Amino acid sequence: MPTPSATMQAVAVIAGRPGSLHLRDVARPSLDDVPGGRGVLVDVVRVGVDATDREIVDAEYGTAPDGGEHLILGHEGLGRVAVVGSAVPPSLPPGTLVVPTVRRPGGSIYDRIGLPDMTTDEVVLERGINGLHGFLAETFVEDAANLVPLPESLEPVGVLLEPLSIAEKGIRQAFEIQRRLRVWRPARAAVMGAGTIGLLFALALRLRGLDVTVYSRREPPYLNSDLVEAIGGRYLSSSIATLDDLAAAGGPLDLIVDATGYSPLALGAARIVARNGVLVLTSVTGGDETAELPTDAINQGFVLGNKVLVGTVNAAREDFEEGLEDLLRAEAFHRGWLERLITTRIDGLVGHAEMLRRLVEDESAIKVVVEVNRG
Ligand code: BGC
Ligand code: ZN
Repeated sequence: MPTPSATMQAVAVIAGRPGSLHLRDVARPSLDDVPGGRGVLVDVVRVGVDATDREIVDAEYGTAPDGGEHLILGHEGLGRVAVVGSAVPPSLPPGTLVVPTVRRPGGSIYDRIGLPDMTTDEVVLERGINGLHGFLAETFVEDAANLVPLPESLEPVGVLLEPLSIAEKGIRQAFEIQRRLRVWRPARAAVMGAGTIGLLFALALRLRGLDVTVYSRREPPYLNSDLVEAIGGRYLSSSIATLDDLAAAGGPLDLIVDATGYSPLALGAARIVARNGVLVLTSVTGGDETAELPTDAINQGFVLGNKVLVGTVNAAREDFEEGLEDLLRAEAFHRGWLERLITTRIDGLVGHAEMLRRLVEDESAIKVVVEVNRG
């Protein structure tokens, strides 16, 4: 075997410097970066990018690891186990496909009981986003505990597991909260926004038997509205239909999820959530948008209707595991649907400029992925 060189290529930014996306040579990670023999060296297969990466490139978000100025991007990873440390369980043999979770524990009580996704820390650690390097590189090293193994059949779509985990957590939160109602059986849901997260929410909710309406700006038909209809959902364009039309489209909305990135719409939906219903907010809106809303009506509706508004970020390992089950269900019941979400493939880490262009300019792109190493 040829000896691997001591360096490798990675796609990085200088944190805080807009437009600094570049390819660089970095030290190849080593198993010893993780203590106790729990390290796993993973060869990256492909990595998805999203609006968070775009914000990091625009220097509106993201921080470099301590002691450096660059941050390797990439938090939607799919890779293959290459080498394992001495204490890695036999469930992760070389060759196994894996998806890494993103957030690492900080110091709050929630981090210490294994819920870093619920941290109250000011500073959070997230690979490829905040304080830790990401996966847009030839390889990475991770603690075995943070790697979710996937069956080989999910190789084509496993890169969608991290974004799907966001939807899984949002749905799990809603159900956890609604245990207060003893018998909550949501029948109807609305998903606002038809991007990757919105579509994956729609999928997960349809797989649970809910009636789902996706509400998004663009007028149908286009790929995203076709995808909604292909899983038995309904698509409504906010250019034509008002929130009242959405509410009238079939009965009370027990669950509304916002994934639009547009906070006036996210909070505006509070007016149309059903009695005993939940509104789940998922958009990380970094801007300074303001809006005038019917606050008396919203407030009264929430009080008299025992309604809930909840925000959700990141995901726990259990959400990745539930997401894995949903990927398998989707492949069984809606074969080919997940792959249609991956609209845009960038060839290699060298394609980083094209990656960014597609992410920023290509309105028809749903999920943009970088093919790092197909072999
Ligand atoms: C990532 C999450 C992360 C969040 C906030 C999202 O794009 O998918 O894992 O917690 O950004 O940084
Ligand atoms: Zn993300």
